[in-house]
Amino acid sequence: MSAVEEIRSQFPILSRKVGGKPLAYFDNAATSQRPHSVIDLQQAMTVQHNANIHRAVHTLSNEATELYEKGRKAVARFIGAESENNIVFTSGTTASINLVAACFVRGGFLKQGDKVVISYAEHHSNIVPWQLACQTVGASLEVVPVEKDGTVDLQRLEAALTPEVKILAITHVSNILGVVNPIAQITEIAHAKGIPVLIDGAQGIVHRKVDVQAIGCDFYVFSGHKIYAPTGIGVLYGTEEWLEKLPPFMGGGDMVAKVTFAHTTYAEVPLKFEAGTSNITGGACMAPAVEFAQSVLENGEMAENEHLLDGAMRRQLASVEGLTLAAAEAKERIPLYSFTIEGVHPFDAATLLDKMGFALRSGHMCAEPLVDSLSQTGMLRASLMPYNTLEEVERFGEALRRAVSMLR
Ligand code: PMP
Repeated sequence: MSAVEEIRSQFPILSRKVGGKPLAYFDNAATSQRPHSVIDLQQAMTVQHNANIHRAVHTLSNEATELYEKGRKAVARFIGAESENNIVFTSGTTASINLVAACFVRGGFLKQGDKVVISYAEHHSNIVPWQLACQTVGASLEVVPVEKDGTVDLQRLEAALTPEVKILAITHVSNILGVVNPIAQITEIAHAKGIPVLIDGAQGIVHRKVDVQAIGCDFYVFSGHKIYAPTGIGVLYGTEEWLEKLPPFMGGGDMVAKVTFAHTTYAEVPLKFEAGTSNITGGACMAPAVEFAQSVLENGEMAENEHLLDGAMRRQLASVEGLTLAAAEAKERIPLYSFTIEGVHPFDAATLLDKMGFALRSGHMCAEPLVDSLSQTGMLRASLMPYNTLEEVERFGEALRRAVSMLR
Protein backbone atom coordinates (compact mmCIF):
# COMPACT_ATOMS: atom_id res chain seq x y z
CA MET A 1 0.00 0.00 0.00
CA SER A 2 1.35 3.47 -0.85
CA ALA A 3 1.60 6.11 1.88
CA VAL A 4 -1.42 7.95 0.43
CA GLU A 5 -3.54 4.79 0.29
CA GLU A 6 -2.53 3.98 3.86
CA ILE A 7 -3.54 7.46 5.03
CA ARG A 8 -6.73 7.44 3.00
CA SER A 9 -7.82 4.09 4.41
CA GLN A 10 -8.09 5.74 7.83
CA PHE A 11 -10.87 8.11 6.74
CA PRO A 12 -14.15 6.18 6.51
CA ILE A 13 -16.06 9.09 4.95
CA LEU A 14 -13.84 9.03 1.87
CA SER A 15 -15.35 5.78 0.67
CA ARG A 16 -18.88 7.19 0.47
CA LYS A 17 -20.60 8.26 -2.71
CA VAL A 18 -22.26 11.54 -3.61
CA GLY A 19 -24.93 11.49 -6.31
CA GLY A 20 -23.92 7.91 -7.11
CA LYS A 21 -20.31 8.99 -7.82
CA PRO A 22 -17.24 8.40 -5.64
CA LEU A 23 -16.76 11.40 -3.35
CA ALA A 24 -13.75 13.59 -4.11
CA TYR A 25 -13.55 15.92 -1.14
CA PHE A 26 -11.80 19.13 -2.19
CA ASP A 27 -13.17 21.49 0.49
CA ASN A 28 -10.53 20.76 3.09
CA ALA A 29 -9.67 24.38 3.77
CA ALA A 30 -13.23 24.79 5.10
CA THR A 31 -13.05 21.65 7.22
CA SER A 32 -11.01 18.47 7.01
CA GLN A 33 -12.22 14.91 7.45
CA ARG A 34 -11.41 12.81 10.53
CA PRO A 35 -9.40 9.61 10.82
CA HIS A 36 -10.43 6.53 12.84
CA SER A 37 -8.17 7.49 15.76
CA VAL A 38 -10.11 10.73 16.25
CA ILE A 39 -13.54 9.20 15.62
CA ASP A 40 -12.82 6.38 18.10
CA LEU A 41 -11.75 8.76 20.85
CA GLN A 42 -14.71 11.02 20.10
CA GLN A 43 -16.99 8.05 20.73
CA ALA A 44 -15.07 6.83 23.78
CA MET A 45 -15.38 10.28 25.35
CA THR A 46 -19.16 9.77 25.21
CA VAL A 47 -19.58 6.10 26.03
CA GLN A 48 -16.68 5.67 28.48
CA HIS A 49 -15.40 8.92 29.94
CA ASN A 50 -18.24 11.41 29.89
CA ALA A 51 -17.94 13.70 32.93
CA ASN A 52 -17.07 17.28 33.70
CA ILE A 53 -13.40 18.11 34.17
CA HIS A 54 -11.15 19.72 36.80
CA ARG A 55 -13.84 19.77 39.48
CA ALA A 56 -14.63 16.33 40.87
CA VAL A 57 -12.67 13.51 42.46
CA HIS A 58 -14.54 10.59 40.90
CA THR A 59 -13.03 8.24 38.33
CA LEU A 60 -14.91 9.44 35.28
CA SER A 61 -14.02 13.06 35.98
CA ASN A 62 -10.38 12.14 36.51
CA GLU A 63 -10.31 10.22 33.22
CA ALA A 64 -11.96 13.06 31.29
CA THR A 65 -9.60 15.61 32.84
CA GLU A 66 -6.59 13.49 32.01
CA LEU A 67 -7.65 13.05 28.39
CA TYR A 68 -8.44 16.76 27.96
CA GLU A 69 -5.08 17.77 29.43
CA LYS A 70 -3.36 15.13 27.31
CA GLY A 71 -4.80 16.95 24.29
CA ARG A 72 -3.29 20.20 25.54
CA LYS A 73 0.13 18.58 26.04
CA ALA A 74 0.00 17.04 22.55
CA VAL A 75 -0.76 20.45 21.01
CA ALA A 76 2.11 22.06 22.95
CA ARG A 77 4.52 19.40 21.66
CA PHE A 78 3.16 19.66 18.12
CA ILE A 79 3.79 23.41 17.82
CA GLY A 80 6.97 23.51 19.89
CA ALA A 81 5.41 25.61 22.68
CA GLU A 82 7.39 26.24 25.85
CA SER A 83 4.86 24.22 27.86
CA GLU A 84 1.21 23.13 27.88
CA ASN A 85 0.51 26.26 29.95
CA ASN A 86 0.97 28.28 26.76
CA ILE A 87 -2.01 26.50 25.17
CA VAL A 88 -5.50 27.90 25.73
CA PHE A 89 -8.35 25.82 24.33
CA THR A 90 -11.01 27.92 22.61
CA SER A 91 -13.77 27.01 20.18
CA GLY A 92 -11.63 27.81 17.12
CA THR A 93 -9.50 30.35 15.30
CA THR A 94 -12.30 32.92 15.36
CA ALA A 95 -12.76 32.59 19.11
CA SER A 96 -8.99 32.79 19.69
CA ILE A 97 -8.64 36.04 17.75
CA ASN A 98 -11.72 37.54 19.41
CA LEU A 99 -10.24 36.62 22.78
CA VAL A 100 -6.96 38.41 22.07
CA ALA A 101 -8.69 41.44 20.53
CA ALA A 102 -11.16 41.80 23.42
CA CYS A 103 -8.44 41.32 26.05
CA PHE A 104 -6.26 43.92 24.35
CA VAL A 105 -9.10 46.37 24.84
CA ARG A 106 -10.02 45.29 28.37
CA GLY A 107 -6.40 45.26 29.46
CA GLY A 108 -5.75 48.74 28.06
CA PHE A 109 -3.23 47.47 25.49
CA LEU A 110 -5.24 49.14 22.71
CA LYS A 111 -6.36 52.70 23.30
CA GLN A 112 -7.73 55.71 21.46
CA GLY A 113 -5.45 56.80 18.63
CA ASP A 114 -3.64 53.43 18.47
CA LYS A 115 -3.49 51.24 15.38
CA VAL A 116 -3.85 47.56 14.53
CA VAL A 117 -2.11 46.33 11.37
CA ILE A 118 -3.45 43.42 9.30
CA SER A 119 -2.88 42.35 5.69
CA TYR A 120 -5.17 42.52 2.69
CA ALA A 121 -5.35 38.72 2.56
CA GLU A 122 -7.04 38.12 5.90
CA HIS A 123 -10.04 35.93 6.62
CA HIS A 124 -13.01 37.80 8.13
CA SER A 125 -11.95 36.27 11.47
CA ASN A 126 -8.79 38.33 11.42
CA ILE A 127 -10.53 41.51 10.28
CA VAL A 128 -13.81 41.92 12.15
CA PRO A 129 -12.61 41.25 15.74
CA TRP A 130 -10.02 44.01 15.23
CA GLN A 131 -12.61 46.35 13.75
CA LEU A 132 -14.78 45.77 16.82
CA ALA A 133 -11.82 46.35 19.13
CA CYS A 134 -10.85 49.53 17.27
CA GLN A 135 -14.42 50.85 17.33
CA THR A 136 -14.65 50.28 21.08
CA VAL A 137 -11.63 52.42 21.93
CA GLY A 138 -11.33 54.77 18.95
CA ALA A 139 -8.31 53.06 17.39
CA SER A 140 -7.89 52.40 13.65
CA LEU A 141 -7.15 49.51 11.37
CA GLU A 142 -4.33 49.72 8.85
CA VAL A 143 -4.33 47.22 5.97
CA VAL A 144 -1.10 46.24 4.21
CA PRO A 145 -1.37 45.09 0.58
CA VAL A 146 -0.05 41.82 -0.82
CA GLU A 147 2.45 41.46 -3.67
CA LYS A 148 1.70 39.88 -7.03
CA ASP A 149 3.01 36.55 -5.75
CA GLY A 150 0.45 36.67 -2.92
CA THR A 151 2.83 37.30 -0.02
CA VAL A 152 2.45 40.38 2.12
CA ASP A 153 4.39 43.40 0.85
CA LEU A 154 7.23 43.55 3.38
CA GLN A 155 8.31 47.08 2.54
CA ARG A 156 4.81 48.45 2.96
CA LEU A 157 4.44 46.35 6.11
CA GLU A 158 7.58 47.80 7.63
CA ALA A 159 6.42 51.32 6.76
CA ALA A 160 3.01 50.67 8.35
CA LEU A 161 4.55 49.60 11.66
CA THR A 162 4.64 53.02 13.27
CA PRO A 163 4.82 53.70 17.03
CA GLU A 164 0.98 53.88 17.23
CA VAL A 165 0.70 50.21 16.20
CA LYS A 166 -0.12 47.99 19.17
CA ILE A 167 -0.40 44.65 17.36
CA LEU A 168 0.25 43.08 13.97
CA ALA A 169 -2.28 40.34 13.16
CA ILE A 170 -1.44 38.43 10.03
CA THR A 171 -2.19 35.15 8.34
CA HIS A 172 0.37 32.36 8.00
CA VAL A 173 -1.36 31.15 4.81
CA SER A 174 -4.29 32.91 3.15
CA ASN A 175 -7.39 30.76 2.71
CA ILE A 176 -7.85 32.26 -0.77
CA LEU A 177 -4.32 32.51 -2.12
CA GLY A 178 -2.78 29.47 -0.43
CA VAL A 179 0.49 31.38 -0.31
CA VAL A 180 2.83 30.91 2.64
CA ASN A 181 3.88 34.17 4.28
CA PRO A 182 7.42 34.40 5.74
CA ILE A 183 6.06 34.64 9.27
CA ALA A 184 9.40 34.35 11.11
CA GLN A 185 10.78 37.26 9.07
CA ILE A 186 7.56 39.25 9.54
CA THR A 187 7.70 38.66 13.30
CA GLU A 188 11.31 39.83 13.38
CA ILE A 189 10.40 43.04 11.55
CA ALA A 190 7.57 43.78 14.00
CA HIS A 191 9.58 42.84 17.08
CA ALA A 192 12.42 45.13 16.02
CA LYS A 193 9.87 47.90 16.57
CA GLY A 194 8.51 46.40 19.80
CA ILE A 195 5.19 45.36 18.22
CA PRO A 196 3.60 42.03 19.21
CA VAL A 197 2.50 39.61 16.51
CA LEU A 198 -0.53 37.34 16.22
CA ILE A 199 -0.41 34.70 13.49
CA ASP A 200 -3.62 33.24 12.08
CA GLY A 201 -2.48 29.68 11.52
CA ALA A 202 -5.86 28.20 10.48
CA GLN A 203 -4.47 27.08 7.11
CA GLY A 204 -0.73 27.12 7.81
CA ILE A 205 -0.76 24.63 10.68
CA VAL A 206 -2.23 21.94 8.42
CA HIS A 207 0.48 21.91 5.76
CA ARG A 208 3.64 23.25 7.40
CA LYS A 209 5.57 22.16 10.47
CA VAL A 210 5.13 25.00 12.94
CA ASP A 211 7.54 25.83 15.72
CA VAL A 212 6.18 28.82 17.58
CA GLN A 213 9.40 29.45 19.46
CA ALA A 214 11.43 29.44 16.25
CA ILE A 215 8.91 31.83 14.67
CA GLY A 216 9.06 33.94 17.80
CA CYS A 217 5.43 35.10 17.54
CA ASP A 218 3.44 36.26 20.56
CA PHE A 219 0.25 34.44 19.56
CA TYR A 220 -0.46 31.63 17.10
CA VAL A 221 -4.07 30.52 16.61
CA PHE A 222 -5.78 27.68 14.77
CA SER A 223 -8.89 25.47 14.62
CA GLY A 224 -9.03 21.76 15.36
CA HIS A 225 -11.54 20.96 12.64
CA LYS A 226 -9.16 21.88 9.83
CA ILE A 227 -6.52 19.53 11.18
CA TYR A 228 -8.44 16.25 11.62
CA ALA A 229 -10.17 17.10 14.96
CA PRO A 230 -13.89 17.77 15.51
CA THR A 231 -15.50 21.20 15.17
CA GLY A 232 -15.82 23.49 18.18
CA ILE A 233 -12.26 23.19 19.48
CA GLY A 234 -9.40 25.55 18.74
CA VAL A 235 -6.09 26.75 20.04
CA LEU A 236 -4.68 30.01 21.24
CA TYR A 237 -0.95 29.76 21.78
CA GLY A 238 0.41 32.74 23.70
CA THR A 239 3.77 33.51 25.26
CA GLU A 240 3.84 33.31 29.04
CA GLU A 241 4.42 37.05 29.19
CA TRP A 242 1.26 37.87 27.24
CA LEU A 243 -0.99 35.24 28.78
CA GLU A 244 0.02 36.47 32.23
CA LYS A 245 -0.53 40.15 31.51
CA LEU A 246 -3.79 39.88 29.54
CA PRO A 247 -6.90 40.04 31.74
CA PRO A 248 -9.47 37.19 31.59
CA PHE A 249 -11.83 37.11 28.59
CA MET A 250 -15.02 35.56 29.98
CA GLY A 251 -15.87 35.17 33.64
CA GLY A 252 -17.40 32.04 35.15
CA GLY A 253 -16.55 28.66 36.59
CA ASP A 254 -13.12 27.06 36.15
CA MET A 255 -11.33 30.34 35.47
CA VAL A 256 -11.29 31.42 39.11
CA ALA A 257 -9.09 30.84 42.14
CA LYS A 258 -11.28 32.41 44.86
CA VAL A 259 -14.64 34.11 44.48
CA THR A 260 -16.23 36.49 46.94
CA PHE A 261 -18.85 39.11 46.17
CA ALA A 262 -16.29 41.77 46.93
CA HIS A 263 -13.34 40.39 45.00
CA THR A 264 -12.41 37.47 42.75
CA THR A 265 -9.00 36.07 41.97
CA TYR A 266 -8.34 34.07 38.86
CA ALA A 267 -7.02 30.64 38.05
CA GLU A 268 -3.52 30.28 36.69
CA VAL A 269 -2.90 30.48 32.96
CA PRO A 270 -4.23 28.80 30.80
CA LEU A 271 -7.41 28.06 32.81
CA LYS A 272 -7.78 31.81 33.41
CA PHE A 273 -9.06 31.92 29.80
CA GLU A 274 -11.26 28.81 29.88
CA ALA A 275 -14.44 29.90 31.65
CA GLY A 276 -17.30 27.42 31.93
CA THR A 277 -17.42 23.84 30.73
CA SER A 278 -15.04 23.44 27.83
CA ASN A 279 -15.33 21.29 24.76
CA ILE A 280 -13.91 18.33 26.66
CA THR A 281 -14.25 15.82 23.83
CA GLY A 282 -12.75 18.27 21.36
CA GLY A 283 -9.78 19.01 23.60
CA ALA A 284 -9.12 15.29 24.11
CA CYS A 285 -9.40 14.63 20.37
CA MET A 286 -6.68 17.16 19.66
CA ALA A 287 -4.16 14.51 20.78
CA PRO A 288 -4.88 11.90 18.07
CA ALA A 289 -5.52 14.71 15.56
CA VAL A 290 -2.16 16.43 15.92
CA GLU A 291 -0.35 13.10 16.28
CA PHE A 292 -1.85 12.12 12.94
CA ALA A 293 -0.87 15.47 11.42
CA GLN A 294 2.66 15.12 12.76
CA SER A 295 3.11 11.66 11.25
CA VAL A 296 1.97 12.99 7.86
CA LEU A 297 4.16 16.10 8.03
CA GLU A 298 7.19 13.96 8.85
CA ASN A 299 6.55 11.48 6.05
CA GLY A 300 8.92 12.23 3.16
CA GLU A 301 6.73 10.28 0.74
CA MET A 302 3.86 12.62 1.55
CA ALA A 303 5.95 15.72 0.86
CA GLU A 304 6.72 14.24 -2.56
CA ASN A 305 3.04 13.48 -3.01
CA GLU A 306 2.06 17.10 -2.29
CA HIS A 307 4.50 18.14 -5.00
CA LEU A 308 2.98 15.67 -7.49
CA LEU A 309 -0.56 16.78 -6.63
CA ASP A 310 0.46 20.40 -7.15
CA GLY A 311 1.89 19.68 -10.60
CA ALA A 312 -1.18 17.66 -11.59
CA MET A 313 -3.62 20.28 -10.32
CA ARG A 314 -1.84 23.09 -12.14
CA ARG A 315 -1.86 21.07 -15.39
CA GLN A 316 -5.57 20.36 -15.06
CA LEU A 317 -6.42 23.97 -14.26
CA ALA A 318 -4.25 25.21 -17.15
CA SER A 319 -6.23 22.96 -19.52
CA VAL A 320 -9.41 24.98 -18.93
CA GLU A 321 -9.71 27.91 -21.29
CA GLY A 322 -10.33 31.24 -19.58
CA LEU A 323 -9.36 29.97 -16.12
CA THR A 324 -7.35 32.32 -13.89
CA LEU A 325 -5.61 30.90 -10.85
CA ALA A 326 -5.16 33.34 -7.95
CA ALA A 327 -1.51 33.92 -6.98
CA ALA A 328 -0.34 31.68 -9.82
CA GLU A 329 3.18 33.07 -9.35
CA ALA A 330 3.42 32.02 -5.71
CA LYS A 331 6.87 30.85 -4.68
CA GLU A 332 5.53 28.66 -1.91
CA ARG A 333 1.94 27.53 -1.59
CA ILE A 334 -0.10 24.87 0.15
CA PRO A 335 -2.31 22.67 -2.09
CA LEU A 336 -5.07 25.25 -2.23
CA TYR A 337 -6.27 26.69 -5.54
CA SER A 338 -8.77 29.53 -5.94
CA PHE A 339 -9.76 30.42 -9.45
CA THR A 340 -12.25 32.11 -11.72
CA ILE A 341 -13.41 30.94 -15.15
CA GLU A 342 -14.44 33.45 -17.76
CA GLY A 343 -18.15 33.25 -18.54
CA VAL A 344 -18.86 30.74 -15.77
CA HIS A 345 -20.50 31.61 -12.46
CA PRO A 346 -18.70 29.84 -9.57
CA PHE A 347 -21.98 28.69 -7.95
CA ASP A 348 -23.14 27.04 -11.18
CA ALA A 349 -19.81 25.27 -11.62
CA ALA A 350 -19.72 24.11 -7.99
CA THR A 351 -23.29 22.80 -8.27
CA LEU A 352 -22.52 20.80 -11.41
CA LEU A 353 -19.27 19.51 -9.93
CA ASP A 354 -21.15 18.35 -6.82
CA LYS A 355 -23.38 16.24 -9.06
CA MET A 356 -20.19 14.62 -10.38
CA GLY A 357 -18.99 13.83 -6.83
CA PHE A 358 -16.62 16.80 -6.29
CA ALA A 359 -16.98 18.95 -3.15
CA LEU A 360 -15.59 22.42 -3.91
CA ARG A 361 -16.06 25.77 -2.25
CA SER A 362 -17.52 28.73 -4.11
CA GLY A 363 -18.22 32.38 -3.36
CA HIS A 364 -16.34 34.84 -1.17
CA MET A 365 -14.99 32.21 1.21
CA CYS A 366 -15.04 34.59 4.20
CA ALA A 367 -12.41 36.87 2.71
CA GLU A 368 -14.66 39.32 0.89
CA PRO A 369 -12.25 42.25 0.54
CA LEU A 370 -9.63 40.06 -1.14
CA VAL A 371 -12.06 38.08 -3.30
CA ASP A 372 -13.79 41.30 -4.40
CA SER A 373 -10.44 42.55 -5.64
CA LEU A 374 -9.93 39.36 -7.69
CA SER A 375 -13.43 38.75 -8.99
CA GLN A 376 -16.90 40.26 -9.10
CA THR A 377 -18.83 37.02 -8.75
CA GLY A 378 -16.72 35.10 -6.24
CA MET A 379 -14.34 32.26 -6.90
CA LEU A 380 -14.09 28.49 -6.92
CA ARG A 381 -11.67 26.84 -4.54
CA ALA A 382 -10.20 23.35 -4.52
CA SER A 383 -8.20 22.62 -1.38
CA LEU A 384 -6.45 19.29 -0.90
CA MET A 385 -5.29 17.20 2.03
CA PRO A 386 -2.76 14.38 2.19
CA TYR A 387 -5.60 11.89 1.61
CA ASN A 388 -6.39 13.30 -1.84
CA THR A 389 -5.00 11.35 -4.78
CA LEU A 390 -3.58 12.02 -8.22
CA GLU A 391 -6.43 10.01 -9.68
CA GLU A 392 -8.95 12.37 -8.05
CA VAL A 393 -7.14 15.41 -9.41
CA GLU A 394 -7.08 14.00 -12.91
CA ARG A 395 -10.75 13.05 -12.71
CA PHE A 396 -11.41 16.58 -11.45
CA GLY A 397 -9.80 18.07 -14.56
CA GLU A 398 -12.17 16.09 -16.79
CA ALA A 399 -15.18 17.02 -14.65
CA LEU A 400 -14.25 20.70 -14.67
CA ARG A 401 -13.84 20.78 -18.46
CA ARG A 402 -17.22 19.06 -18.79
CA ALA A 403 -18.89 21.49 -16.39
CA VAL A 404 -17.43 24.48 -18.20
CA SER A 405 -18.57 23.22 -21.63
CA MET A 406 -22.10 22.75 -20.23
CA LEU A 407 -22.19 26.24 -18.74
CA ARG A 408 -20.77 28.25 -21.59
N1 PMP B 1 -8.55 32.14 9.30
C1 PMP B 1 -8.35 31.45 8.17
C2 PMP B 1 -7.13 31.73 7.34
C3 PMP B 1 -9.27 30.47 7.79
O1 PMP B 1 -9.07 29.78 6.67
C4 PMP B 1 -10.40 30.23 8.61
C5 PMP B 1 -11.45 29.21 8.23
N2 PMP B 1 -11.85 29.23 6.91
C6 PMP B 1 -10.55 30.97 9.79
C7 PMP B 1 -9.61 31.92 10.09
C8 PMP B 1 -11.71 30.78 10.71
O2 PMP B 1 -11.69 29.51 11.29
P1 PMP B 1 -12.90 29.02 12.20
O3 PMP B 1 -14.15 29.25 11.41
O4 PMP B 1 -12.61 27.58 12.43
O5 PMP B 1 -12.86 29.82 13.45
